[in-house]
Amino acid sequence: VIQAIGLRKSYGTLEVLKGMNLTLARGEVVALIGPSGSGKSTLIRCLNMMEQPTAGTIRFRGKEIGRKFRDAGDKIGIGTLRRNVGMVFQHFNLFPHKTVLENVTEGPIVVCKTPRAEAEEQAKELLAQVGLQDKHGAFPNHLSGGQKQRVAIARALAMKPEVLLLDEVTSALDPELVGEVLTVIRRLAQDGMTMAIVTHEMAFAADVSDRVMFLDQGSIAAQGSAEEIIRNPDNERLASFVSRFN
Ligand code: ATP
Ligand code: MG
Repeated sequence: VIQAIGLRKSYGTLEVLKGMNLTLARGEVVALIGPSGSGKSTLIRCLNMMEQPTAGTIRFRGKEIGRKFRDAGDKIGIGTLRRNVGMVFQHFNLFPHKTVLENVTEGPIVVCKTPRAEAEEQAKELLAQVGLQDKHGAFPNHLSGGQKQRVAIARALAMKPEVLLLDEVTSALDPELVGEVLTVIRRLAQDGMTMAIVTHEMAFAADVSDRVMFLDQGSIAAQGSAEEIIRNPDNERLASFVSRFN
């Protein structure tokens, strides 16, 4: 569904991504692991063009994406990409002055022109799916971190994305709240959602993903099954990284 080919990204003289190739097939779950600064966030921000790659191409549904492209022929515009690729961040980024329900309906109403009543009905279903059916009217400040993150996931799902990109969505949570968010993601994986998941939760990564990629200094240093990469890493740098988080 989504593909990066020869992806490079530099900030000034700092080369953060050094030519990466990645393909996310429909229904596939890829876990991205690696040390701080290895380029995980930059990679997924490039995948939905929140960052402009320095070189290389991103393809969505086989079509090349460009900031200035319109949807035509073998090219696709950034708007179509964004509507179909959901993103969830470490720090939730909910609208603080909107209720839970309004946070979830905002995208469909504003971007997709969904009638409000229909958007609300869908939002209520999604909130029930993430276990927040009793929080429609609450404001984000009155929620726990785990609840906020589940609202953020429901908000992303409200756009009916084809792909979901998750960047350390449990890193800002108290340990006792991590489980409830991971449960929601696990269920999405079982339901066939295509996802790229940046995480430091090795057991979770191993258990939810079809494939694990280990990023190191802007390159994909290793990739394979969870068995190969997390449970039985065969290179020393990878082994020492994985063992730190187990
Ligand atoms: P972490 O695990 O800490 O989140 P990461 O693997 O997500 O790390 P990135 O956030 O992708 O790493 O950052 C990779 C490198 O790019 C870092 O050296 C970072 O300082 C640099 N970098 C990221 N964003 C910018 C920016 N907007 N301007 C300049 N440098 C940046
Ligand atoms: Mg990051």
